Amino acid sequence: ILYNQVQDLKGTIRVYCRVRPFLPGQSNGQSTVDYIGENGNIMIVNPMKQGKEARRVFSFNKVFGTNVTQEQIYVDTQPLVRSVLDGFNVCIFAYGQTGSGKTYTMSGPDLTSEVTWGVNYRALRDLFQISKARIDLIRYEVAVQMIEIYNEQVRDLLVSDGSNRRLDIRNNSQLNGLNVPDASLVRVTCTQDVLDLMKIGQKNRAVGATALNERSSRSHSVLTVHVHGKELVSGSILRGCLHLVDLAGSERVDKSEAVGERLKEAQHINRSLSALGDVISALAQKSAHVPYRNSKLTQVLQDSLGGQAKTMMFVHINPEVNALGETISTLKFAERVA
Ligand code: ADP
Ligand code: MG
Repeated sequence: ILYNQVQDLKGTIRVYCRVRPFLPGQSNGQSTVDYIGENGNIMIVNPMKQGKEARRVFSFNKVFGTNVTQEQIYVDTQPLVRSVLDGFNVCIFAYGQTGSGKTYTMSGPDLTSEVTWGVNYRALRDLFQISKARIDLIRYEVAVQMIEIYNEQVRDLLVSDGSNRRLDIRNNSQLNGLNVPDASLVRVTCTQDVLDLMKIGQKNRAVGATALNERSSRSHSVLTVHVHGKELVSGSILRGCLHLVDLAGSERVDKSEAVGERLKEAQHINRSLSALGDVISALAQKSAHVPYRNSKLTQVLQDSLGGQAKTMMFVHINPEVNALGETISTLKFAERVA
């Protein structure tokens, strides 16, 4: 296809690290981030230790410091998003402990201001713009699904009645890339359509929750954008899909403290995040066996991980000293998949 500028990105996994700034009221004094290099290195310091032991360097495709804007974050994402219009499948993940900035990266803090829009809205805006620009060559249709995976159960977030129905996953190429065929599929033509849908999604996410802020950090949310294009001259059809995934918080839960529901949730999250890590690292190592079947998340994303698909992960860290343990484990996870 004529338009594809990112052929070279296929089959690669890119890992970006983003450091959240200190929030108002948090001590600005001590940060665990000692140094961010131009070349994708980040040095973490443990202020409780001395000498060589205190420092550790991790390497990624890029590291974004605390002053990086939402627009700058999107720059490297854009070519992947655009490739969806050429028929590629793309997954973009936000990983990190609760409070590290995942939702900030994917959605943004405030939808009323385009300046702070996250990856989700910027991606859709881009898809709409480019599909308009190509209108004489290709007719595109864009539709979205939004699901939540909580305790290894898949729920539709776009149902208007907020029903709690569990959905099945079907990996079947006959379904045109719809791995959750029973989740609502809503056609969108402009960013306002998307903003309206996201409001419904967020509301439905809260409905099933006992404590609403808590729930969102313990479930994975997946916004899937399906693109269907018809080339006007040849009549050929292309399909691509983009999964935008705000993962459950990666923090480890103290087994001695968590009981009942909380323990069950924690176990589901741990298992699904490590299943994701296993899949991505198997792909990165070009391993013959990729263990997609070990979690609902990797089953939902199966056709968009590996093969011709492109994957990008933003790992988030909170620079506070009391988050050091989680920061190290986040960076280790990221290094394993990079
Ligand atoms: P998570 O989704 O990982 O739990 P959030 O995205 O909700 O974390 O971020 C936690 C808090 O930090 C929010 O108040 C958010 O607005 C703020 N925050 C996160 N990242 C940034 C950033 N890059 N710049 C400014 N504030 C941020
Ligand atoms: Mg969040």
